[in-house]
Amino acid sequence: MMEFNRFNHNKKSNRTWIVLSIIVFIIVLAAGSWIGYNGWNVNRSIDNLVAVWNSENKGGEGEMIPTGGDPTETPEVPERQQAEPEPVPEAPKQPEEKPEVTPPQEKPSEDVKTPVQPEQTIDHGGYIEGVKIPKEPTYINGVLIANKKNPLPQDFAPGENKEAREAFDKMAAEAKLSGFELVAFSTYRSFDYQTTLYNRYVEKDGQEAADRYSARPGFSEHQTGLAFDIGEKNFEQYWADSEFGNTPAGQWVAENAHKYGFILRYPEGKEEITGYMHESWHFRYVGEGIARDVYIKGITLEEYLNIQ
Ligand SMILES: [Zn+2]
Repeated sequence: MMEFNRFNHNKKSNRTWIVLSIIVFIIVLAAGSWIGYNGWNVNRSIDNLVAVWNSENKGGEGEMIPTGGDPTETPEVPERQQAEPEPVPEAPKQPEEKPEVTPPQEKPSEDVKTPVQPEQTIDHGGYIEGVKIPKEPTYINGVLIANKKNPLPQDFAPGENKEAREAFDKMAAEAKLSGFELVAFSTYRSFDYQTTLYNRYVEKDGQEAADRYSARPGFSEHQTGLAFDIGEKNFEQYWADSEFGNTPAGQWVAENAHKYGFILRYPEGKEEITGYMHESWHFRYVGEGIARDVYIKGITLEEYLNIQ
């Protein structure tokens, strides 16, 4: 009898264990599914469970946090504060815990927001189509600029810059000590003279070719009075010729001009930025400080002034 009772008792407790195990198994399975449903984010699973619990108990507006959405986009904090009076302790949701982060609605809304940029049409010469000759010259950080985007007024006629001429004479005197007789064969050019020059080149080579080596009237740096085309006396064949850069005199100027406030204005490989092909003879006076900076950094005036 005793044996039977114990057996009976054991059987009973065994059944209890089995039932308990099944319950535990179901709870674990349900929890797992719930967390999985919430994108394997434990914090969010707990939040959602609390939200469901609240909505069922209060019959209220408990909101579930969407599984796919971006947490930064969902205005969940104020909504949940409405639904549940006490704040949730584990508030911050880490975006890196979510498996897929791409919210489907982000792309189209971005496209809608992108403002339509008024496009500048650049013609074959590198000029902005329809650009007008201004009434005032353009100074950037106190530096007078003349390029294909910043033309000069027709009546801007300062003549050759005195300070630039003095600097050139100083440089020429120094070059003479090294055996080079430098000549500034073209400096200041008026708007009208540039018109004559440009039209002559267009007639000779066609506009497309002329635009690569000659500026249209109003766009020439020579109109500033600060541009100096440098060559060597008795070597006229290299004047305004790319070969000048390979001559000893040309190399001397390239290496020393910055000490006198001049920069090589149209360096090799910077055609996209300056708008002109490399001109080993064309130097621009900017003063010693800027010239040294531009030379050391190996940049153009446009890059230096940040106006590319
Ligand atoms: Zn020039």
